[in-house]
Amino acid sequence: MEKNAKIYIAGHRGMVGSAILRKLQQEGFTNFALRTSKELDLRNQEAVQQFFEEERPEYVFLAAAKVGGIVANNTYRADFLYENLMIQNNVIHSAHVTDVKKLMFLGSSCIYPKMAPQPLKEEYLLTSELEPTNEPYAIAKIAGIKMCESYRRQYGRNFISVMPTNLYGPNDNYDLQNSHVLPALIRKFHEAKVNGSPTVEVWGTGSPLREFLYADDLADACYFLMQQYDGEEFVNVGTGEDLSIKALAELVKETVGFEGELVWNTEKPDGTPRKLMDVSKLHGLGWKHRVDLPEGIRKVYEKFVEHEEIRVL
Ligand code: GDP
Repeated sequence: MEKNAKIYIAGHRGMVGSAILRKLQQEGFTNFALRTSKELDLRNQEAVQQFFEEERPEYVFLAAAKVGGIVANNTYRADFLYENLMIQNNVIHSAHVTDVKKLMFLGSSCIYPKMAPQPLKEEYLLTSELEPTNEPYAIAKIAGIKMCESYRRQYGRNFISVMPTNLYGPNDNYDLQNSHVLPALIRKFHEAKVNGSPTVEVWGTGSPLREFLYADDLADACYFLMQQYDGEEFVNVGTGEDLSIKALAELVKETVGFEGELVWNTEKPDGTPRKLMDVSKLHGLGWKHRVDLPEGIRKVYEKFVEHEEIRVL
């Protein structure tokens, strides 16, 4: 990517897109085509096509998606499937029609079968059934991978896909019903500490294992892969290390300084038992994460307390 190349980041206000934008700005890129979701509805085929024809971006990061935690995915199943398919179909197809030089599609670790061997290697895609709580979202993301692969095979397009593990960072969603586990725990422990509540409710049994990557590390990996990687096979992006939800809850509790008890609500789903990425391909290409989990949680909590995230409370 030349420093004056025109770059479109779809979803630049979200956690991932904003991290990619920060990274590119730090690297000296200045020529961005950006639209908020109000300015451009990515579900609208005509509007997206028109945007690409007018702006003619050379490079595209497709980080726009409808995302959420386990309950949101399980509740708004139709919306997760429909909106994500529309967004990615419109952006990927328009990128093809307008000769975009390179496009990166961002997926998710939930594309892997529920009972796949761990750690998850890229080749385990489509080898058995998905986790039911987020199947519609996963199906949409798998379709995105196949779009990139198919436009590459049929039309020779340089469209690549990366699969990040569970992410956290600035500009996350702190809605207690719809967020992912890490922002939910930060908010719950913080509010309990401030309000002097003796207990915090945590969902499930605490036994599922999850891996977490700091959003700025993901952005760094995306930049690295956009420069270095032109392969057909998608690339996992993670730390290669996981921990139980129980251990995560203890870590957040300690970081926030909450001194009460955890109450496990087993009416809520556990989701998939484990999803640890195999990151040997990424490491082999020469990239490794920098921010470890305790440090990342400290950074995010600092921002949370500084009221940067106050709009969500
Ligand atoms: P998942 O990785 O797709 O399962 O999505 P989540 O990040 O929403 O949930 C991960 C795990 O954390 C699941 O086992 C949840 O039951 C558990 N969990 C514990 N407390 C919470 C909470 O307050 N919010 C969310 N979203 N998950 C929680």
